[in-house]
Order: sequence, then structure tokens, then C-alpha cells
Amino acid sequence: MTPDFSLDAARALDAADPLSRFRAQFHIPQHEGADCIYLTGNSLGLQPKAAAAALQTELDSWAEHGVEGHFRGAHPWAEYHERFARGLAHLTGAQEQEVVAMNALTTNLHLLLVSFYRPVAGRRKILAEAKAFPSDRYALVSQIRFHQGNPATDLIEIAPRPGEHTLRTADILEAIREAGDELALVMIGGVNYYTGQRMDMAAITAEAHAVGALCGFDLAHAMGNVPMSLHDWGVDFACWCSYKYLNSGPGAVSGIYVHERHLGLADLPRFEGWWGHDKERRFLMEPDFQPIPTAEAWQLSNAPVLNMAVHGVALEQFLEAGIGPLRERGDRLTAYLEAAIHDVAQATGSHLEIITPADPAERGSQISLFAHGFGKQLFDDLTAAGVVADWREPNVIRMAPVPMYNSFEDLARFHAILQHCITNSN
Ligand SMILES: *Cc1c(COP(=O)(O)O)cnc(C)c1O
Repeated sequence: MTPDFSLDAARALDAADPLSRFRAQFHIPQHEGADCIYLTGNSLGLQPKAAAAALQTELDSWAEHGVEGHFRGAHPWAEYHERFARGLAHLTGAQEQEVVAMNALTTNLHLLLVSFYRPVAGRRKILAEAKAFPSDRYALVSQIRFHQGNPATDLIEIAPRPGEHTLRTADILEAIREAGDELALVMIGGVNYYTGQRMDMAAITAEAHAVGALCGFDLAHAMGNVPMSLHDWGVDFACWCSYKYLNSGPGAVSGIYVHERHLGLADLPRFEGWWGHDKERRFLMEPDFQPIPTAEAWQLSNAPVLNMAVHGVALEQFLEAGIGPLRERGDRLTAYLEAAIHDVAQATGSHLEIITPADPAERGSQISLFAHGFGKQLFDDLTAAGVVADWREPNVIRMAPVPMYNSFEDLARFHAILQHCITNSN
């Protein structure tokens, strides 16, 4: 059934949804005196209004206490990262001991690969997605070289079938079985950044383990977007960033997950630093490293507090809303956007192909649109009309209807703008 794309109908949908209240907690960028239609929360999430006060709290603590801020103030900095474990555990479906906020995403991917990519003769291969986010590929290829491997043979990149845009789970599982006992590691994005496809992380992990490989995920586009059960799925490790769906600010702190079975092992290879050392003994400045028996063992340095302050605000919002209800609202928004695009395609007789899977179980809050025959002009026209979306070569417009702050009204306005831009493009 085609929804009613009138503003009144959209406003009624917003009024009926209790989660609509969160929008007022964000700064919405403006376009010609009105809220822009911000659909790039998968690139940089919007700023929670409480961010400034959270930063000010730490600046005040520094002003008032100086170095003593490590042990005094609202959130003593010596244990600053500990405040995030509850929210991160909720979002990943992990135990609190399995997660920690630290560093930046690609840095963490390398640190995790040091521990979990340990090639040995005969078992050296990594299975990844073709056209993974470039940074992930650079990390994997450089790790293979670091271990004197050959990326041309040690990196297996699995691509969609000809004529298809997304991976079939059965093909991923088949590729894992085919690599068999030569496979050291499966490392895939939990949600693909380009198509918005959500992977079956449980099935992929089970198949990797069945052939004796480890399995990790880059959750850059999954965190704060889709609910997960990393612990129960048995996922070995994962990392993410917090500036996309997690709204923690540009370049904000990343985080990692390490399954309980890998915690507390003193002989696990790991690049070590003093912030991973036994907390009780950290300031004794002893020469030998004793890992904290949690994911915190992977920390190197003391917490970048000013970088992390907004993360606390953002995670509180997720705990309050709940990732389950957010996903449910996100599914409704995404389906509405999808229907809006189909409606405009039909009304204007244009070829607008959505390459994101149609099944809600295989996607989160993203629609990637292949606008055949339009070129970048359509994207530029949308931008000029106040739509903030994102353009990827060759011809894909990515849009994220984020349940935390996007509204049905945003999408009804988008429907009208898209129709207008296409009608006037001929
Ligand atoms: C956004 C993103 C990155 C960015 O990496 P940084 O280290 O945070 O700059 C890496 N990988 C994926 C899959 C991403 O989506």
C-alpha cells in the first residue's frame, strides 16, 4: 500500500510515535531558514544539544582541579572510559567486560588484527568483501604484508554475482567453506557502507568457526543502527566508530568488542600500553605487563577525555530510547523513504533503482539509490533544495533516515523535492 506523502499525513505519523521526541534534542542544520533534510547521519551524526554542556563539564573539571581531575569531578578521568561500557554493551549485545571505548576505528582494526590475524603455514587467508571501505582494505593488505604474506593470494575478496549489487549469504558461506583450512580470518563490514546491506553476522561467524577460522566485523555502519548479539553469536572481535549513527562528534572515539573467550590471556599477542595494565597496579610503574582481564587490556593510552565527553551524552540517548524500538522506527522510516522513491519513479516514468536490500532483516536505516540516466545533476539539485545526502561514484545517492532524529515530515518533504527535481530535469 502506498503511504500518503502529504505533510499532514506525515506529521500525524510523527505525532503518533513516542520516539519522535528525540528530534528536539538535536541541532538540525538549517537551509534557507528551515530545517534541512539531513540524510547523512551514516556519515556524521547530528550534534545532541547536550553536547556543549558535557564538554563544558570536563573543561570546568580541568579548570577547577587541574591534574586532580583524574580522581575528582563529575567523571574522574582515570576511569573515564568505564562510563561507556553499559551503552556499548547494549548496542553490541555484549557483556560489559567485552567492550571498551578507545582510539580511532582504523587504529583499533590494526590492534585487533595483531591479536586475531595470526597466519601460520597453510592457514594464512583473510576473507573480506570486495569494495570494502578503503581503509579496511588498506589495513588488511598491510597486515598481510606485515606477516610477509602475499595480498594477491592471501586476501580473498568476495563480490556480488554479475548483475547484482549485494552479497548473498549463501555465497559468503560457500566461499568460507571453499577456503576451508587455509582460512585464518573472516573480516567483513556488519552493514555495508555503500549498499546498506546488513550481513547475517551469526551465520557468517558460525561458518568461519566451522572451518577453524576466527571472525571479526567492522561495525562502522552497524553501531547504533541495527541491534546485535555479538556475544551469543560468538563473534571473536569487532570495532566501530562513534561519529556516524552514534552522534558522538567528528573524529570521536572508536570502540572495540572482544569475546569473553579471548579475555585475560597473558600469552595472546597484543600491542600493549600502560592503560591495558592491571588497574590496581598501574601507578606502581612496574616493568611487566599484566593485562586487565577485560577488553580494556587492548587500551594503550589514557583516555582522550575531551574527545570522549559527547560519547556519554549520545550513549545515554540510545539507552533511553533502546536500540530495539529505534530499529523498529528506523524500519518504518526506511520503508517510507523507499515507497516515496518508488512513487516518484512511477509518477515521472524514471528509472530509480534501489540497490539496498528490500527485506528489513537485510538492511538498517539506509537507502542507496542508483539514479539511472540522471548523473550528478540530480544530486546537486537535491542539495540546492536543502537535502543533505551523499554521492558515491559512479552514480549512487546514499540516504540514511535515522530514527533518532529524522521524521516522517523530513521524508514527505523529500518526496516533494525529488518529484520536483526530476520533473524539472527534463
Ligand atoms: C567510516 C568508516 C571508516 C573510517 O575509519 P576511521 O579510522 O574512523 O577514519 C572505516 N571503515 C568503515 C567500514 C567505515 O564505514
